[in-house]
Amino acid sequence: MSTSSSSQTQSLKIGIVGFGTFGQFLAKTMIKQGHTLAATSRSDYSDLCLQMGIHFFRDVSTFLATDLDVIVLCTSILSLSEVVRSMPLASLKRPTLFVDVLSVKEHPKDLLLRVLPEDSDILCTHPMFGPVTGKNGWRDLTFMYDKVRIRDEATCSSFIQIFASEGCKMVEMSCEEHDKAAAKSQFITHTIGRTLGEMDIKSTPIDTKGFEALVKLKETMMGNSFDLYSGLFVHNRFARQELENLEHALYKVKEMLVQRMNEEQGQERLES
Ligand code: NAP
Repeated sequence: MSTSSSSQTQSLKIGIVGFGTFGQFLAKTMIKQGHTLAATSRSDYSDLCLQMGIHFFRDVSTFLATDLDVIVLCTSILSLSEVVRSMPLASLKRPTLFVDVLSVKEHPKDLLLRVLPEDSDILCTHPMFGPVTGKNGWRDLTFMYDKVRIRDEATCSSFIQIFASEGCKMVEMSCEEHDKAAAKSQFITHTIGRTLGEMDIKSTPIDTKGFEALVKLKETMMGNSFDLYSGLFVHNRFARQELENLEHALYKVKEMLVQRMNEEQGQERLES
């Protein structure tokens, strides 16, 4: 880790595992800040990485042996277990900080505590934004983190600083609290966006501002992979209850409407 005397920020050697949409999105800002990046992924991103100035490793063992300060896990929620369990962790040269950015938090925390070497530090995080919402910068966007097992405070705080220095709203909370809150907020947002996608809603010549917002929500949510969305359900133990609450609420709203319609029709019959 090298320290720049002018800004007192520490430049990190960061390795990204899973160089899909979100891995690439994070990498751009990390490079802009002067960190040195390496990446590995199931697919071959050699050409893209060459253009971005990132060393791409097809071989995970060589990637792990590269003397990285931080390894950021950016794979899909559904594949994390398979990806981490298949890593030849004995290739690590020294204690390393592992960070995950998955949109669920108890699952990576439990897995990483079980599978990683005892001397690896673990920081579980969730940047609550993505390539669409963060396309004009990260100012005021929320970054959640939980210092699950940290001994090297300097490396951990240099990593957290990547988000703080972009102006993110920094929220430290437990993985359990995160999953409870995210099931009520993010999962419901995705579910409504997906439901509107199923209905194939489209702009009309007479859109209200409210409807414009719904069309935008549908487009943003349908832009995420189904792996991501289904991961929010499969690996968040609080999500099923929230889905049931949503179903129940829709049923209740429909019941209220039907009841009112019956009352109105009854009134009309009395008057005629
Ligand atoms: P995603 O569909 O959740 O994940 C795509 C990534 O997972 C790719 O790097 C892909 O590798 C890898 N992957 C999928 N299946 C795999 C398998 N069987 N074996 C190995 N690798 C596999 O889409 P994403 O948007 O890029 O999200 C990545 C992570 O960031 C997720 O955990 C998500 O929850 C989190 N996150 C995303 C956002 C967002 O706005 N997109 C925001 C916050 C957090 P290849 O590309 O090499 O095939």
